[in-house]
Amino acid sequence: MAPRSLAVFDLDGTLADVRHRLRFLERRPRDWDGFFGASLEDPPLAEGVALALRHAETSEIAYVTGRPERCRHSTLTWLRRHGLPSGRLLMRRAGDRRPARVAKPELLRRLAAGRTVAVVVDDDLQVCAAYRRAGFHVVHAGWMAEARAVLEEAQEREGGT
Ligand SMILES: [Mg+2]
Repeated sequence: MAPRSLAVFDLDGTLADVRHRLRFLERRPRDWDGFFGASLEDPPLAEGVALALRHAETSEIAYVTGRPERCRHSTLTWLRRHGLPSGRLLMRRAGDRRPARVAKPELLRRLAAGRTVAVVVDDDLQVCAAYRRAGFHVVHAGWMAEARAVLEEAQEREGGT
């Protein structure tokens, strides 16, 4: 039997509401440790969670996030706590400061090797554009729009998430 297709979800701004911790990025210098440290408290984004559960009926769920590896334990705890499907979690390597639009397509290509990716869902427009250029079918997560500008600017300049 062929393996099921993959439906791939981003975390920050797609499944997890990061707005309560954007204050850590509005400081100078930006406090990335504070930003990631508070992620366990993120409220889930209902639209994203519903989409993941719907895709889980037909696809295997996986997660590609710009969060660094040191957040793996708290991220898995958060996914379980909010009833999200288990699946592979690909994260940014320690010390990787490249923009998300560069780092995340590389993670997705690694995940996709030999598999069919039915859809990838992300809130970052530049990441979505890079995924499309790499040939993936993309759904843009527009449901946390207010937070996107601050986050994207930080991602682009400092490659933190
Ligand atoms: Mg995101």
